[in-house]
Amino acid sequence: MPFRLADFDREVLAEHGITQQEIENARRYVVLLQGANSQTYADISGGCYYATSGLLHEVVELRVLLKRDRWLLVRSRQRANKFLQDNEDAHVEALQVEYPYLQRKIAEIFGARVGIGELVRANASKWDFDRLFNSDLDLPIFFPTDAEIERAWMLLERLKRFDRSKEHGAQ
Ligand SMILES: [Zn+2]
Repeated sequence: MPFRLADFDREVLAEHGITQQEIENARRYVVLLQGANSQTYADISGGCYYATSGLLHEVVELRVLLKRDRWLLVRSRQRANKFLQDNEDAHVEALQVEYPYLQRKIAEIFGARVGIGELVRANASKWDFDRLFNSDLDLPIFFPTDAEIERAWMLLERLKRFDRSKEHGAQ
């Protein structure tokens, strides 16, 4: 299934000037690193808000990486993985864009305030949290409690369900 411009949150595509070409590159990048059967691929191909957060991550990361290796998308998986490891600041930059977006969308749609820290812990790895926490980030990020992580997890699940309901035209 292709990633289609029309499926994603238009506001954020415009805000970040994301083109169909970049969306296609992000798709190729996910296939290259994780495969077309990966969870990331499934999450993004659905379109809508949670999907947009994933797409945004890959597009931002790829913008940084392609500046450093314009042939990245035709490399082997092994080489691309190594390149990402050697350029992990690209991943951290992507986290810095992805999570404020998720935070904002959850506030807009559900009227719920949720911290960046617990969103990262609920949605990604401890490693991602540590990287983000230790980056020179312009955002407030705190160590969440287990209860906060649990609540963030439930909000993310609600957002994914919200995506699916829109997908089936129930908006
Ligand atoms: Zn990444």
